[in-house]
Amino acid sequence: MSPADRYSQLRERAIVHESARDPRDWAEQELQAAWFAGAFGRDFTTTDGRKVRIVQFGVWNHEAGPDFAEAAVSFDDGAAERGHIELDPDARDWERHGHATNEHYNGVVLHVFLDRGDAEFFTRTTEHRRIPQVLLDPAMLDEPPTPQPEAKPGRCVAPLRAMPEERVREVLYGAAQFRLRRKGAALARTTDLHGADETLFQSLAGTLGYKSNKLPFTLLAQRLPLKLLRAAKDDVEALLFGVAGFLNQNDLGEFDTPTRVYLRSLWERWWPRRAEFERLTIPHELWKMSGQRPANHPQRRLAALAQLVRHWPSVRSLRDDCVADDIAKFCSKLRDEYWDHHYTVTSKPSAKRMALIGESRVTEMLANVFLPIAINTDPAKWITFKNLLATLSNRRVEIAALRLFGGSSITTSLLKSAAAQQGLLQIYEDFCQRDASDCQHCLFPSQVAKW
Ligand code: SF4
Repeated sequence: MSPADRYSQLRERAIVHESARDPRDWAEQELQAAWFAGAFGRDFTTTDGRKVRIVQFGVWNHEAGPDFAEAAVSFDDGAAERGHIELDPDARDWERHGHATNEHYNGVVLHVFLDRGDAEFFTRTTEHRRIPQVLLDPAMLDEPPTPQPEAKPGRCVAPLRAMPEERVREVLYGAAQFRLRRKGAALARTTDLHGADETLFQSLAGTLGYKSNKLPFTLLAQRLPLKLLRAAKDDVEALLFGVAGFLNQNDLGEFDTPTRVYLRSLWERWWPRRAEFERLTIPHELWKMSGQRPANHPQRRLAALAQLVRHWPSVRSLRDDCVADDIAKFCSKLRDEYWDHHYTVTSKPSAKRMALIGESRVTEMLANVFLPIAINTDPAKWITFKNLLATLSNRRVEIAALRLFGGSSITTSLLKSAAAQQGLLQIYEDFCQRDASDCQHCLFPSQVAKW
């Protein structure tokens, strides 16, 4: 049995499911991004008991009307019906937001929501057509994060300390391999909905946004699909910056000359297309602009995303071959005349050239995108993952290490491995983040002692 299967077995025996974060607490945009990525699946039952399959998730609608256009759904295995899909946190939002009296919503073929209150609610159009409804089940979600547990050593420190180091590593690698397979399965689901290239594009964008801006980056890549951007040729960067909401300021006087030239060139390309895409603009409040290293500023990372679009045939072959050194070499060569020397549009130019996609981002892309995709067809890629060096740690990894290992010296060597970090995170999410008993009812210590 592989370590991943052993970990999966341990997890099944020990995991407590109740305390997952409820998607009803999510922001509407977060819910829509998860739906579009296929996180709830594609097969459902309508509230009146019919089977429904989302044949095509469509595109984010950039015109007035429902959330997703050009979708197609099939009821009871019948022929696919084309139309729009509206997704609301609550079924009653349909009336509250006036959709029942708005003819832009007449083409909706499915109304999806997470809640509907106690009374039965019918979704109807201005023509009094009744629209089939789907009530989403939060339990369909794969990875529900929960609040951070307190950062202190947990009850599993003792059994883990009593185990030989080799076995501890095996547990962590088992959890890491399990995590890799799960990510691979999630990406395969998205590929099923949107195709291999769009999936790669959306997930690389999410990695560039990680972690403070993962949601707006994912929304951007969903709303501006790769196919559209590739056809936009020289407008790629302008569309990305425009829909991101970064081109709203029309007074360029405060900037230095290179920045003025750069922003004006984006503006000139964005304004003729603004009306077409304005409705898709990412709300300002979703962006986190501060509290991160300047090199990670979302505008720099957006420029990196534009470069990936420009070099897409190479990105696609890097995915197909999935050789870590080649991916690192490709990223190190990406250039951008402006961003090579700027942290942000307001910072002074730096004399030293800065990598558009640095080493730590490459590791994240390998661990979260390229290798999970590769593992679906080539299980031997696990070895590449296992040998991947961690380029940075983060607060969650450090808390997880403290919870599981206390101040033990094993932590330092473990945290040098990206796979060990991923294994730690998996255990942390599976057990620590679901525990509400200050470790007392957690079954991980007893299960791991039997490993
Ligand atoms: S919740 Fe479980 S896994 Fe987490 S620190 Fe406590 S005993 Fe260990």
